[in-house]
Amino acid sequence: MTETAPQEFTFQAEIKQLLHLLSHSLYQNREIAIRELISNASDALDKFRHLTLTNSEIPNDAPLEITLEPNESESLLVIRDNGIGMTHDELVKNLGTIAHSGSLEFLRNTAQQGKDAANNLSLIGQFGVGFYSAFMLADKVEVLSRSYQSDEGWKWESDGSGRFTVEPHADLSRGTQIRLHLKTDLKEFTQPWRLKSVLKQYSTFVPHPIKLGDEVVNDQKPIWVEPKSNVTDEEYQKFFEHLTHGIGDKPLWHLHLTADSPFQFHSILYCPETNVERLGFGRAEHGMQLCAKRILVQHNCRELLPDYLRFLHGLVDSADLPLNVSREALQDNTVFRKIKKVLTKKVLSHLESVAAEKPDEYLTFYRQFGITLREGLHSDFEHREEIAGLLRFASSALPPEADKPEPLISFADYVKRAPDGQKQIYFLGGPDRKSLEKNPNLEIFRRKKLEVLFVSDPVDEFVLSNLQNYQGKDLVAIDSSQIEFPPTSDAEKADEAQAEEQQTVAAESSGFQRVLELFREELGDTVTEVRASKRLTDSVCCLVNPEGSMSAQLQKVLSMGDRELPSSKKILEVNPSAPLIARLSGIVDRAEQAAFIQQCGRQLFANALLLEGVPLDPAELVSRVQGFMLDAAAAKAGS
Ligand code: ADP
Repeated sequence: MTETAPQEFTFQAEIKQLLHLLSHSLYQNREIAIRELISNASDALDKFRHLTLTNSEIPNDAPLEITLEPNESESLLVIRDNGIGMTHDELVKNLGTIAHSGSLEFLRNTAQQGKDAANNLSLIGQFGVGFYSAFMLADKVEVLSRSYQSDEGWKWESDGSGRFTVEPHADLSRGTQIRLHLKTDLKEFTQPWRLKSVLKQYSTFVPHPIKLGDEVVNDQKPIWVEPKSNVTDEEYQKFFEHLTHGIGDKPLWHLHLTADSPFQFHSILYCPETNVERLGFGRAEHGMQLCAKRILVQHNCRELLPDYLRFLHGLVDSADLPLNVSREALQDNTVFRKIKKVLTKKVLSHLESVAAEKPDEYLTFYRQFGITLREGLHSDFEHREEIAGLLRFASSALPPEADKPEPLISFADYVKRAPDGQKQIYFLGGPDRKSLEKNPNLEIFRRKKLEVLFVSDPVDEFVLSNLQNYQGKDLVAIDSSQIEFPPTSDAEKADEAQAEEQQTVAAESSGFQRVLELFREELGDTVTEVRASKRLTDSVCCLVNPEGSMSAQLQKVLSMGDRELPSSKKILEVNPSAPLIARLSGIVDRAEQAAFIQQCGRQLFANALLLEGVPLDPAELVSRVQGFMLDAAAAKAGS
């Protein structure tokens, strides 16, 4: 090989940020870098083994293993594997850019959020930025690698500032060596006792031998094939940390499953504490580990669980799966598909039992993962009822207590409490609880003591509109015109009849009819109709969706952020007995007041939209309100 000058490269901008974060935080957990590098080595071994199993031209010549070689006098720690290795181009790409979009999003957010966000770094391993943690231990890192596909070896080198170099390197055998030139205060990582304690803490479950000198230091115990009673809490916890690359975070729950017939498999599934998608990581990109006869065949097997359960971590091991098939072929495998089915059923029924037996724990789970789980309503029709049963909503009957998360109920709770004869499940969408509580459409439900589910997440409203009914009861938005009320008692009927009578008299008065006309003229075709309301008692007006139209919240979801859809038109319902309207009805005969009444109509419509969270032009609003204030001030001066 001829001598050439090393080629110089710069890191992708996000990696520079990451390196900065890594070298300035997490001091107390520097040893996780060793775990990350061993995990990469283990992946490289798995990939190589998979190649030898699927391609008979690639011989598996030597035992696959990871070796740690500490050198105290040079303050050097080498982590070596005989896995697939990397070519020149792979070194540049894999160790110079971040491939996962989730990690990129996370890093961008972290940079914006500043220091606090650095705490999220313990979650970083899940997103494939593990290699760079080498710079928590070393001020210079060399990576020597030769790919199984090539005779040429390469040296990658960086001091963790903005750049790295790549140059040819002779006499390398297949695989990769990570050479960590330890920071001066971290010489301890050349001490066997220190390394052993790190390996014991973090790398017990690595499925390949890890050697320190000649000694194999991990026992590679596959706890998933053990009977549950043989596995300790600590082992479950450690295995979780192994799967998630986490440190110290505890799973919310785990499921240890075993089946023998008609096909055999073992599995452990964990639900983490945090939904990383809510932290700005983008979509969770990890998957389950899939083993056949204890040998890892796929690292991030996303197809083993339906997408809406993608937050789970775990491992499946089956003796009935072929070792030597490609990722694509595996998905068509019958056993694979059946395992997926069993896992899905077991997870859903586990969630049902947590919900029934430990409702508080279930709500903790739901607040994190409900947002992901509910996607299943659209994608998994087979389990639609089960998933619907697992949904939780805020309710008009359960006001939040200070400093506590808002209480949530299920459809089943709702139906249980509903009076006999109530055929519909009522819900209302709005931007937040405060505006929902103020929504005038609620008045009649309050008066009739009927519970209304509150959905302040536009996606939930979309979900409900799509679900249409739960156990025979239609789901109906209370701002729609399809409401049916349950029959009322005789006493209530008399009261209601009286109230209705009064309302009708007011509504039929010529003054009120003229007010409606003026409102109609002013609002033109921004509304479908202006009419007298039968549902309001206190509020002046409210908006109602004509049958079949979308609510404001739904439109927000569908318009996907900035691209506004033309908003669908509403009915403006006006309360004839509201004092303001009664006043307006009284002055309607005076022609010079028409413009003022029309301005009131415009403002009432704007108020109703604001309560629904629709953004309006502030300049127009402000100038109109100031006009009213001027009139009021003038009236006061005159009186
Ligand atoms: P991740 O391992 O999650 O993809 P890393 O930043 O740790 O993220 O590594 C980036 C990539 O570098 C890996 O996906 C892999 O392709 C490659 N790589 C890292 N370490 C090794 C190794 N020991 N052998 C072969 N390839 C490696």
